[in-house]
Amino acid sequence: MHGTMQDWPLVVHKIIDHAAIYHAGREVVSLACEGHVHRSTWAEVRGRARRVVAALQGLGVQPGDRVATLAWNTWRHVESWYGISGAGAVAHTINPRLFEEQITYIANHAEDRVLFFDLTFIKLVEKLAPQFKTIEHYVLLTDRAHMPADTSLNLLCYEDLLAAHDEAEWVAVPETAPAGLCYTSGTTGNPKGVQYSHRSNVLHAMAACATDTFGMSAKTTVLPVAPMYHANAWSIPYTAACAGAKLVMNGPNFDPPTLHKLIVDEGVDLALAVPTIWLGMMQYLEKTGQGLGKLDRTAIGGSAVPRAMIEAYDKLGVKVLQLWGMTEMSPLGTVGVGLPETDSMPYEQQLDIRIKQGRGIFGVEMKIVDDEGRELPRDGKAFGRLLVRGPWIVGSYFKGDGASAFEDGWFDTGDVATLDPLGYMQIVDRAKDVIKSGGEWVSSIDLENVAVGAPGVAEACVIGVHHPKWDERPLLLVVPKEGAEVTKDSVLAYLDGRIAKWWTPDDVLVVPSLPHTATGKLLKTALREQYKDYKLP
Ligand code: ADP
Repeated sequence: MHGTMQDWPLVVHKIIDHAAIYHAGREVVSLACEGHVHRSTWAEVRGRARRVVAALQGLGVQPGDRVATLAWNTWRHVESWYGISGAGAVAHTINPRLFEEQITYIANHAEDRVLFFDLTFIKLVEKLAPQFKTIEHYVLLTDRAHMPADTSLNLLCYEDLLAAHDEAEWVAVPETAPAGLCYTSGTTGNPKGVQYSHRSNVLHAMAACATDTFGMSAKTTVLPVAPMYHANAWSIPYTAACAGAKLVMNGPNFDPPTLHKLIVDEGVDLALAVPTIWLGMMQYLEKTGQGLGKLDRTAIGGSAVPRAMIEAYDKLGVKVLQLWGMTEMSPLGTVGVGLPETDSMPYEQQLDIRIKQGRGIFGVEMKIVDDEGRELPRDGKAFGRLLVRGPWIVGSYFKGDGASAFEDGWFDTGDVATLDPLGYMQIVDRAKDVIKSGGEWVSSIDLENVAVGAPGVAEACVIGVHHPKWDERPLLLVVPKEGAEVTKDSVLAYLDGRIAKWWTPDDVLVVPSLPHTATGKLLKTALREQYKDYKLP
């Protein structure tokens, strides 16, 4: 027996239809790759997305085909995105910061038929095109005036394509049909594909709008610095359209002065980015003494948010909302919101909770298990492998890769975590980053979190280095702030009393910079390789 309510398919184009009807004039503002500020509206985005549908049909794209994008967050990328899934095809957002071999690998693995790309990537695409085995059409996301005169590619101009087509109807697909494809950054082995469905994207967007998630409304002005190729810009191009929020996008610009100007000029009140971006912004604000305009919330995720960062933004009147998630989770898993129980705690105690990764949102089930798969208590102390399940969590990787990550309907996140009685999850470490010292575990994340608070330290990274007696011991690498004097002794003096004695790093190296992955995380695999023979004193 079924209930007797309507079977209204949860498909992505319903989101943009809603935005175009109820929030037609709300602005979509972008810093264009051509250098100007572009202003559009949700109604225009829908109209042009429907022209993209017609254009794709003209190119022979069929439902289920993969259409790739290699692009920054701009109005054209958002239109293409809605247009691709609206044509029943799959929007494959490629991360341009991946290594070239990885880009080639995933474009071929996905069997992309068309590539939409930004002016920034002409040289890259020209270079890789001979290795792309399935791409038939290259569409440059620009207008006629900016088309290159001289190129080895047989290029189509996006604006010409749109001008040549009328708006088409959305293609009807079941809600379980694929809408998007995103590859993990592949720090171990080849990247693996996560294929989002229309249903998973819509449910995720609805959950992301909620008060205790992003708290989105038609009064919100949101800037996703997180790129669309990084887990759907954390779903903001969907969420903003659902809520009818004003959407602001930074295009190819990630430098603090440009981001700062955009936040202030456009009245952004919610901005989302990885910690490295907020770190750069903090230093910029310290130097210039400026504030952040109307910004009152930053959502920060992708790596652990250091305590010092939460404190610094509190002082500016900007509330940090820590997020934890993964490409495999569309990406949201937990959000670090307060509860009546925590809001009444003294500030320092609140910080102890706010550095945790947050509470599971409705739709995300979590449990921690030991190596034998036995569930561990939610007491805030026991830690184990974090398993998750829910309607926007990957059920299997594209083409069956990485099957070992799935057990009994649960997905193994690769994170080691605790769950506390109030429902807060805390990542102890990535399973592969944890430092095993004499049978005990040292959390590299916890150590980094404290070390980054040391005077003059901009960024900190801890890796395990071989030790003859203890198996592994922590090595701390720190990057000083511009012009700051940082030494091994100054950092160790700061750590003294703030961490368990036996966690004290065996050595501290002051380095000019640290390597990051294509999604802004510390690239610990590279550092472990670099320091694998390092002799601790
Ligand atoms: P991407 O960032 O490209 O989605 P992954 O899916 O590999 O890359 O990243 C997911 C991982 O990032 C998580 O499993 C977790 O280890 C880490 N991560 C994400 N958010 C946080 C956070 N707030 N604190 C600590 N680690 C985080």
